[in-house]
Amino acid sequence: MSGEEGARAASMEKIVALCKRRGYIFPGSEIYGGLANTWDFGPLGVELKNNVKQLWWKTFVHRRRDIVGLDAGILMHPRVWEASGHVVNFNDPLVDCKTCKSRFRADHLIEDKLGMQASGKTPDEMSAILREANMACPHCGNRTLTDARQFNMMFSTTIGPVSETGTKVFLRPETAQAMFVDYKSVVATSRVKLPFGIAQIGKAFRNEITPGNFIFRDIEFDQMEIEYFVKPDDGPRAFDEWLAAMKSWVKMIGLSEKYVRIREHEESELSHYSSRTLDFEYFFPGTLGWKELYGLASRTDFDLRQHQEFSGEDLRYFDQESGERFLPHVIEPTFGVERTILTVLIDAYDEEQTVDVNGKPDTRVLLRLSPKLAPYKAAILPLMKKPELTGPAWDLFNQIQDETGYQVDYDETANIGKRYRRQDEVGTPYCITIDPTTLEDGAVTIRDRDTTEQVRIPLGDVVPWLREHIG
Ligand code: ATP
Repeated sequence: MSGEEGARAASMEKIVALCKRRGYIFPGSEIYGGLANTWDFGPLGVELKNNVKQLWWKTFVHRRRDIVGLDAGILMHPRVWEASGHVVNFNDPLVDCKTCKSRFRADHLIEDKLGMQASGKTPDEMSAILREANMACPHCGNRTLTDARQFNMMFSTTIGPVSETGTKVFLRPETAQAMFVDYKSVVATSRVKLPFGIAQIGKAFRNEITPGNFIFRDIEFDQMEIEYFVKPDDGPRAFDEWLAAMKSWVKMIGLSEKYVRIREHEESELSHYSSRTLDFEYFFPGTLGWKELYGLASRTDFDLRQHQEFSGEDLRYFDQESGERFLPHVIEPTFGVERTILTVLIDAYDEEQTVDVNGKPDTRVLLRLSPKLAPYKAAILPLMKKPELTGPAWDLFNQIQDETGYQVDYDETANIGKRYRRQDEVGTPYCITIDPTTLEDGAVTIRDRDTTEQVRIPLGDVVPWLREHIG
């Protein structure tokens, strides 16, 4: 492991600790002993999450004339999941240990323990590989693993007061299907013309066999997805355009280029609906390594064709120019919110060796978050807790919120050094200090989180200064 990788491996644990300590992310249901692999976004986590979603919505819905939004129900008609192929195909290959009862994904065991590619292999093929390798249980070490069998990942529940007579429904495992199911209504009501997209942000649920690695693989998570409808011949061009748009997004949220790569799926690996898929992979610290961050898939007309057949509705698009009716093809860029947050935090985490006021070695922990995503854009810090300073500090706090809509923190407790460190640790890009001189010269000090450099500017210039630096 190189020095840098070592630092990144350590940083995963440190990030989990920081997230808990500073109110970003808490383990779910903690006072009841926790519910494994569920997470709650705390006061700062919810701000970061909202900022990610809002930036995405602004970028891909508001700023584009060719994409409209949707917010559909989590529960959908059970036939939706038959038509989409999820009832039959949304399976993971599961292996049990007969001794300790632990469960594993067969494909993960093959990839992680044997270094072989497993995607596209059938459960029988995977079982044969595991038997051949005489694979031991990673948990207890006994060689008592079962053969691989398919396990459907959809959570189900019942609508109706009595489970025996109620209707079995599924919690959606992806947001995508609603865009196909509502496609006809959107075309009829929104004046959209090909090519156009429908975007949605919302919860998805998957009964993952091996959730974990903090918020990397959850059983409940948020997706930001677009189904982009095109004329059948336009698929390849639209695919390339979306590849470029996704690369711009990755840059916009500030991820280091060297930790992101694009991997093309091999033919045997493609999902049942896809003719071409690319994964945006991120190099996660520790044992995770390169793993999927986002996906870009060409879904052809698979979904609309299936829903047309299962619902009996004509879902063909009428092209006024040519007078033809046809099923559009679909390009799907998909983005996980939790994986965005995790990668943004990993990339932002940094430690700097400094000396404290007494000259002793000290470590400054900071999150170099993009100002666009940081929960607080600025913190207002009166140097002392005296009304002549706290009064103007609150005035500035209110002025910034009113005029920019930026979320701003206010802190008058502890010495100024401690308050700076607190803000560094949660990623606040700018600290604005009001001191006794402010009352004389009407100026404030703005400290930069990344460089710790300070500038002094007139109070009246603070709002334009922030606008210029945050955007
Ligand atoms: P993986 O190969 O990691 O299981 P996937 O190929 O099943 O992922 P998709 O079905 O393409 O993932 O889902 C789209 C996006 O949703 C992913 O790129 C990822 O960002 C996110 N995602 C998928 N599963 C999870 C999960 N269990 N927890 C958190 N995010 C997820």
